[in-house]
Amino acid sequence: MNDEVRQWLRAARRIVLLSGAGMSAESGVPTFRDAQTGLWADFRPEDLATEEGFRADPRLVWDWYQSRREGVARVQPNAGHLAIAAFQQRHPGRLLVVTQNVDGLHQRAGSPGVLALHGNLAEDKWLEPPRPCCDPARLAQGRPPRCPACGNLRRPAVVWFGEMLPKAELAAAEDAARGCDLMLVVGTSGVVYPAAGLARATGGRVVVINPEPSALDDAADAVLRGTAALLLPELLEE
Ligand code: NAD
Repeated sequence: MNDEVRQWLRAARRIVLLSGAGMSAESGVPTFRDAQTGLWADFRPEDLATEEGFRADPRLVWDWYQSRREGVARVQPNAGHLAIAAFQQRHPGRLLVVTQNVDGLHQRAGSPGVLALHGNLAEDKWLEPPRPCCDPARLAQGRPPRCPACGNLRRPAVVWFGEMLPKAELAAAEDAARGCDLMLVVGTSGVVYPAAGLARATGGRVVVINPEPSALDDAADAVLRGTAALLLPELLEE
């Protein structure tokens, strides 16, 4: 099966790689469910990753994101991230990374033009639309920091449950999905939409890479049961 997929890869002119939390598991970044351990085991994702949750307890949610930020800053891109970036360097313009991950590891591995559908853990933005007094260079420090004049809060620049995806990124990802001849779906459970819908809307072949069954297996032309850091170098290296 790997040989057939390698052949598809060699023949494909336009490839999209759609990644989810499993892509970073071997770097040591917990998947969403695994992140609910230790200090955070008593909280539900709905309380930590929604605007309502943040408004109800900004410090709690800010601290959870700080701990995830610090966790991600301590880890490195894995062999899978690196194999993707190396392939892109050898074949400029042939492979586009569309990710649901907020950890920035594809970007740190050197992948150009990553479409980060769910934002970036390393960045903040304003909770309310910024007023003239709101200047990110002049913040009152705190957990979270705020505008010293009006009190507007900074929040993580990630897409929370119930929020829209960034329009431009989603439109570019939909175009790429429609126009590609091969899509590699790596490390996603395939239950979070609209990202999972990209694999159903593509005109190209779909290859799922995941050690466990996923909700996108039925849309796949091939399912490779293995991990991102083991299989991607095998598939992408010449
Ligand atoms: P998910 O947690 O729902 O599913 C992870 C998938 O990865 C599972 O299907 C699992 O079998 C698979 N997997 C586990 N280890 C793997 C490995 N080594 N190689 C390949 N696959 C592996 O993740 P999701 O589908 O991305 O959806 C969760 C949501 O949570 C996303 O919206 C994402 O934005 C967010 N999230 C992001 C990060 C991150 O940035 N690293 C981490 C946790 C959650």
